[in-house]
Amino acid sequence: SAQIRMGIAGYGNLGRGVEAAIAKNADMELVGIYSRRDPSSVVPLGQDTPVYSMDALAAHTNDIDVLILCGGSKSDLPDQGPALAAMFNTVDSFDTHARIPEYFAAVDAPALASGKTALISAGWDPGMFSINRVFGEALLPDGDTYTFWGRGLSQGHSDAIRRVAGVAGGVQYTIPSETAIDEVRSGSRPELTTRQKHIRECFVVLKEGAREDAVRAEIVSMPHYFDQYDTTVVFITAAELARDHSAMPHGGFVIRSGNTTDGHAQVIEYSLALGSNPEFTSSVLVAYARAVHRMNAAGQFGAKTVFDVAPGLLSPKSAAELRAELL
Ligand code: NDP
Repeated sequence: SAQIRMGIAGYGNLGRGVEAAIAKNADMELVGIYSRRDPSSVVPLGQDTPVYSMDALAAHTNDIDVLILCGGSKSDLPDQGPALAAMFNTVDSFDTHARIPEYFAAVDAPALASGKTALISAGWDPGMFSINRVFGEALLPDGDTYTFWGRGLSQGHSDAIRRVAGVAGGVQYTIPSETAIDEVRSGSRPELTTRQKHIRECFVVLKEGAREDAVRAEIVSMPHYFDQYDTTVVFITAAELARDHSAMPHGGFVIRSGNTTDGHAQVIEYSLALGSNPEFTSSVLVAYARAVHRMNAAGQFGAKTVFDVAPGLLSPKSAAELRAELL
């Protein structure tokens, strides 16, 4: 059968990851990359991948089956999501958790009005972690859900470090506490404080003349970002920062610990160890694009989340093949 025709709107880390992921899925082809920047300044991974201006999208509605939105959650998707869901089936990774209900409503109306399917907030968190939280709570109603993040690079906390006076560059890793994870895995259902669950580790390059102790003190006491955590600050050179800290690893654990009867603890664990956060997120978006294509063909219009998508729809295999091979 014909390949699913994919488009990419926005070409940053996620956009590049989506291009790479489409190349790994034989039932898909990439129609083009669409960017707000001058297309000639955007260099795709694939030499033959066409790059267009975002303005060209309106003329390409008949060429694209699913458009993957790779803009940032903070200021790109709140505008692009509703506007593009009026023209295309879409998938995005909107990850501002508190704003998801509002964003869902903003995308739902235009998608419904034009018979499109818009899958919002896919990825790993929100996304695969959310699904595993739902499984855990449904299967073990008498229980507790624990999410641990890391070891991973946190963009928001790295930005916060770089704003401290005297800092020339830096990154922050979130590290789950092994002691806390072991306690949760034991089935004892501990109550854990913020400080007990995660540790923060910073690698910082100082500006000429800045003092280590002053910079360290300002970082570890920063409200919200660091003051509720045990934070270590390691000073390194600009060359070390470039050499050892340019990858974007991440991951974590979702654990549901519950009791079916008093004597019987049950523990469910889902874990991710990601060499590249954006590339994995993009792989999830691409699998969901296949599901969106099928749901739209089945007349399921409007905004959807990962909770609304049956797992078999993610697979390139047919329902009959899945029954024969995986049940
Ligand atoms: P980027 O900052 O790399 O890209 C965001 C947008 O910025 C791009 O779509 C692009 O738009 C623009 N851009 C990229 N590079 C440049 C450049 N050199 N100059 C000017 N503009 C540029 O963000 P990410 O791809 O890393 O992440 C996107 C979003 O994904 C995040 O905001 C986050 O919310 C979400 N995310 C979700 C996850 C989940 O689990 N659900 C996990 C990880 C991320 P254009 O081409 O139009 O200029």
